[in-house]
Amino acid sequence: MDSRTVSREVELDKPREACGVFGIWGHPDAVRLTYYGLYALQHRGQESAGIATTQGQGINIHKGMGLVSEVFDEAALKDQEGTAALGHVRYSTTGSSVVVNAQPLVIRYRKGALALAHNGNLVNARQIRDKLEKEGSIFQTTLDTEVLAHLIARYGQGDLEEALSGSLKVLKGGYAFGILTEKVLIGIRDPHGIRPLSLGKLGNSWVLASETCAFDTVGAETARDVNPGEMVVIDDNGVRSIQAVKPGRRVFCIFEYIYFARPDSNLDGLNVHAVRKEMGRQLAREAPADADLVTGVPDSSLSAASGFAEEAGIPYEIGLVKNRYVGRTFIQPDQKLRALGVRLKLNALEKVVRGKRVVLVDDSIVRGTTSRHIVQLLREAGAQEVHVRISSPPYRYSCYYGIDTSASAELIAAQKGITDIERLVGADSLAYLSTEGLVRAIGRGKADYCLACFNGDYAIDVSADAGKFALETSRLRS
Ligand code: SF4
Repeated sequence: MDSRTVSREVELDKPREACGVFGIWGHPDAVRLTYYGLYALQHRGQESAGIATTQGQGINIHKGMGLVSEVFDEAALKDQEGTAALGHVRYSTTGSSVVVNAQPLVIRYRKGALALAHNGNLVNARQIRDKLEKEGSIFQTTLDTEVLAHLIARYGQGDLEEALSGSLKVLKGGYAFGILTEKVLIGIRDPHGIRPLSLGKLGNSWVLASETCAFDTVGAETARDVNPGEMVVIDDNGVRSIQAVKPGRRVFCIFEYIYFARPDSNLDGLNVHAVRKEMGRQLAREAPADADLVTGVPDSSLSAASGFAEEAGIPYEIGLVKNRYVGRTFIQPDQKLRALGVRLKLNALEKVVRGKRVVLVDDSIVRGTTSRHIVQLLREAGAQEVHVRISSPPYRYSCYYGIDTSASAELIAAQKGITDIERLVGADSLAYLSTEGLVRAIGRGKADYCLACFNGDYAIDVSADAGKFALETSRLRS
């Protein structure tokens, strides 16, 4: 085990984000702006980062394992001259965490070079790949993204837009693609609008990003979300919109609001912080608690905790402090010191919680291990009672649309009832937000959202082959 062993313990037992995509066309500082855009999207993926650039002739690529700050230095940015760029940060939802799987993926096909960056997961990637391999295609990576590259090559007799339209009709899953060629930047969103993708404007340049917080960072204005099934084609003449695939039942990932997105992002016109705060308010109405203070697990639960406190009329306090400098890679403590994993990341503020009845708001419980540690931290710091309130419903089903969740067997709510979980995490009481309350907090119709990880209602059929390592397994079998 080397000193860069990734620790799962310190990640606070949350689902891991999919990926982040950022692209810009027609700007002299395209490379640096993409670098800053990726910084803003770093929370969506910390395993690898990459930027592809063009000046109109060929495509350059620089990518590597690690955070944006680890992959790029001044020299790397200087090498990457270009007036258009496409960047990507990755957490592996399909394929191993190895550099060959870092994105953007650059391919050459009969019309020239092309860079591809993908957020999401293609549920039928394995079937398409098996078919293509039987017909002679040779794959370089275990990314589902490479399937699209091969389809483009196959449908590439006409122009790129035709090749893409043909390819997209075959793909199933949740996806947002960024594609860069010497002539054009393209953004595509899946027909159900599961994964987010927005369009922004910076002066005369157009920008694409997984979340609008990246627009704020680079000084761009949000224009709109890319629509389900839409392909936006950006070149020197501006933006064109093509309905590449017929839109299906719209099911935006509700977990973007609960946990994944940054609170300063707007998704579908709604601010994430405001939605989370409303979830907290709704939770306080559904599951009140007699307590002296409300605190949240930093950072993603703070908005919901403040909403809970306001609605309940109980003071909101900072009861837990997060160490922001513990990244994903650190020397994992051995078994004896395993409990340090959470302590490295979080500490309880004794001055605040000693002798108090505490409401602890968290956005979700996945396996329950971290919740148990946090409750214990608060008790050791002197909390008299700890009432755990979760601002989403029990998390029972795996995600196949671009989020890395544990298998159902590891999801505590899939295995145990609320009373058992309450006992396991050591809380005085435990309550979850109802599905109806969650949807009410967002203020739009239930039918507009994917709620599959709560109710198992998958809008797109998922085969047993749709998991994270499906393509590796397929390769091993063949
Ligand atoms: Fe999002 Fe859950 Fe649906 Fe996956 S299953 S897209 S995490 S709501």
